[in-house]
Amino acid sequence: MPIACPDCAAQMPEIAAFCPGCGRPMIPATSTATRAEGKVGFFHENIAGALAYLTFIPAVAFLILEPYNENRFVRFHSIQSLLLWVAGLAAAAALKLVGIILFIIPVVGPLFVVLVSMVIGLAAVVIWLVLVVKALQGDMFKLPLLGDFADQHAASF
Ligand SMILES: [Zn+2]
Repeated sequence: MPIACPDCAAQMPEIAAFCPGCGRPMIPATSTATRAEGKVGFFHENIAGALAYLTFIPAVAFLILEPYNENRFVRFHSIQSLLLWVAGLAAAAALKLVGIILFIIPVVGPLFVVLVSMVIGLAAVVIWLVLVVKALQGDMFKLPLLGDFADQHAASF
């Protein structure tokens, strides 16, 4: 039973792993699925993905509990969520340290620390919102650096 490539319409046997015309992988690689489509446990995948960002607790739970820890979409968002928490804590610690130093400078120092804290806090809220919305839309939205790391680890669990 020959099949046709959806990209270049080349004909090939059904069992072909790659299109002979354009090289497109023909076997649907379930492990690299990047869209949420199905359900996992009680939730739709996208809901579970969004839940992973509500504090680190659901993320940890999803990585421990079946069937959530077997779902790549949920795993990805859980890992990215945890990485974000770690990065956030590191940023907060760094800011605190810089704050201690800057507080020595009268007026300008503390003012600067407050301003920077507000900007970072606001940015964190925006990033968090984007991540939740993207997960709800079924996207595996990757943050720079953290996202790639999460993706690799979600794939090689
Ligand atoms: Zn092709």
